[in-house]
Amino acid sequence: MFEPTDARLALPCWDEPALKAPFAITMIAREGETCLSNMDVVCTQPWEPKPGAELGESYEIGSGLCAGADGAGWNATTFNPTPPMSTYLLAFAVGKFHYAETEYTSKLTGKTIPLRLYALPQAVERSTFALDAVKRALPLCETRFGVAYPLPKLDLLACNETSNGSENWGMITGSVTGFMSEADATPLQQLKRLGGTVAHELAHQWFGDIVTMAWWDDLWLNEAFAVLTGQLYLASRLWPAWDMEGDFLKTWLQPGLAADALRTSHPVETPCPDAADIMQRFDEISYSKGAAVLRMLMDIVGEDTFFEGVSVYLKRHMYGNAVAKDLWVALSEVSGRDMVTVMAAWTTKTGFPVIIVDEDGATLKITQHRFLASGDVRPDEDETLWWVPLAVKSIQSGSASVDHDAVLTGRSTTYTPASDVFKLNAETRGFYHVKYTPERLAKLGQHAASFSVADRVGLLSDATALARAGYISASDALGFACALARSETQYLHYNGVHALLLAVADTWWEDDEVSAAIDCVRVAVFRPVVDRLGYEPRADDSPDVTALRTLAVSAALTAGDGDVVRELLARFRAYMAGDSSVPSELRLSVFTAAVAYGGKHEYDAVAEVYAHSTLPPLRNQARTALGRVRDAARLARSLELVMSPDCKAGNLVSVR
Ligand SMILES: [Zn+2]
Repeated sequence: MFEPTDARLALPCWDEPALKAPFAITMIAREGETCLSNMDVVCTQPWEPKPGAELGESYEIGSGLCAGADGAGWNATTFNPTPPMSTYLLAFAVGKFHYAETEYTSKLTGKTIPLRLYALPQAVERSTFALDAVKRALPLCETRFGVAYPLPKLDLLACNETSNGSENWGMITGSVTGFMSEADATPLQQLKRLGGTVAHELAHQWFGDIVTMAWWDDLWLNEAFAVLTGQLYLASRLWPAWDMEGDFLKTWLQPGLAADALRTSHPVETPCPDAADIMQRFDEISYSKGAAVLRMLMDIVGEDTFFEGVSVYLKRHMYGNAVAKDLWVALSEVSGRDMVTVMAAWTTKTGFPVIIVDEDGATLKITQHRFLASGDVRPDEDETLWWVPLAVKSIQSGSASVDHDAVLTGRSTTYTPASDVFKLNAETRGFYHVKYTPERLAKLGQHAASFSVADRVGLLSDATALARAGYISASDALGFACALARSETQYLHYNGVHALLLAVADTWWEDDEVSAAIDCVRVAVFRPVVDRLGYEPRADDSPDVTALRTLAVSAALTAGDGDVVRELLARFRAYMAGDSSVPSELRLSVFTAAVAYGGKHEYDAVAEVYAHSTLPPLRNQARTALGRVRDAARLARSLELVMSPDCKAGNLVSVR
């Protein structure tokens, strides 16, 4: 795995993305081991080292090797040459891998492509989900991008150590937990991550691998595109019940806004003159802001036109390199609009605007200023004017209409909405916050049911960010959240309230009285949900209900609700006594209750699961729970457990 600059450690090469070449690879490995690389195998033949060979023209690399202690010999595996490609996407692997296999026949070329998932034997049987995702996603990619998958095979390799997926061309790598799922034991959130990762790396096979950024300053576009098309577009179509649109708000848009609201943020397009700085480009701004800004652009031109432009871009630069502007140019051609101007400030300037909506009778005065989480923007930091799609949604006699022509390009403008019930940023597709007057916010709370879930979640996250930064009062934000809660049944909404409470709790963490008050609000909001949904999954639960139950139990547990703690502890004791029926969705909360509220006996049992379970999701949950310990002596034990070499560096962050 070479991204970004490790190819130069393995072979002599011009290790920069713009310098593409075909690569013909031969690997020498022990008999009985499998060699993998980007391309398909031409042949595998026995190979003899030539000990004592002199350096010279006939010298063959590897001549100095000798037979293994068990007398095992060597094989040489030769692969077909690759198309022209960048060095960072080269990959090779050797090991005693097993594989599961399926195949896909391209509608564009009629060719059948074998799809395999390689892993160590105990993991390979758990690969159906990931392989099936690849098989179903490939035709979607080919149709949407208008370009056939160009290589003769596609492998996924589940290795132990890497924590993230990687888009090596024709040989996608990821962690065992990243690619493997247990039929019934993988919680929904983890399955979503798994599916999203596979779709993300698959999107890169086109955007990144066929057409590659000219230099690392455009890494953001590579990643933003893979998030938008993988985690959002492909995943929404592969798993329609999962609400990946809602997931996008929570996983990408809101973290992107939070990161870019800091004074220390940077533009998505940042010069990267030194290769040593590349790793710093793999950050929240590249992935989350990049993806959110690209999604806003997709909304401006429309989904079909967006992919038409992408297809033009891919065909124009096939097997070559490109810069972000090349994509804007392609999109301008197909949409007939100047996308270079639209995108300029979003990608080349730091930060994003808060759109302030003041009312004078029926007329709105709409103004933009840079938003800072600290709420103290100075005039010299407030000079950027963004091209803002206002997307005003009005509700008239129960039906919604969106004005897509409403745009703010200067400092301020006036606008008259079609109805007195309106909001900006329809479906929360824009990368900005909106600040309404307190009266309007209260009114939006009353009419919340007229707006979509994405609208309500956007309003809630805006209120959270604005209250936290001091643009509006915390009580206005909480009042709005409570008004919404009266009629709300959606997971995404409760997740927003949960985030709002976390934000307030984080701010006041040193004040016991406020912390206790927040726990009271948590119980008031989430305990009724627990009572309504219960602890047991039902066969007809939608993914939304499943996610809401998991969240409500966990939030009530965080608040230390006595009944919920007792129930979870009872379930843990039953689990220890051999009743293995704890639903996978509930397991983290059950383990957490055991570690946080149980005694030494319960703690030991969770530590035992972590040490000896062979199921990755179970170990993950036990490890996370061990971080929730409250007893000081056991805290030291938890620290020791997770700092031991058994705990892979990539897993350390899940202990919290
Ligand atoms: Zn990526």
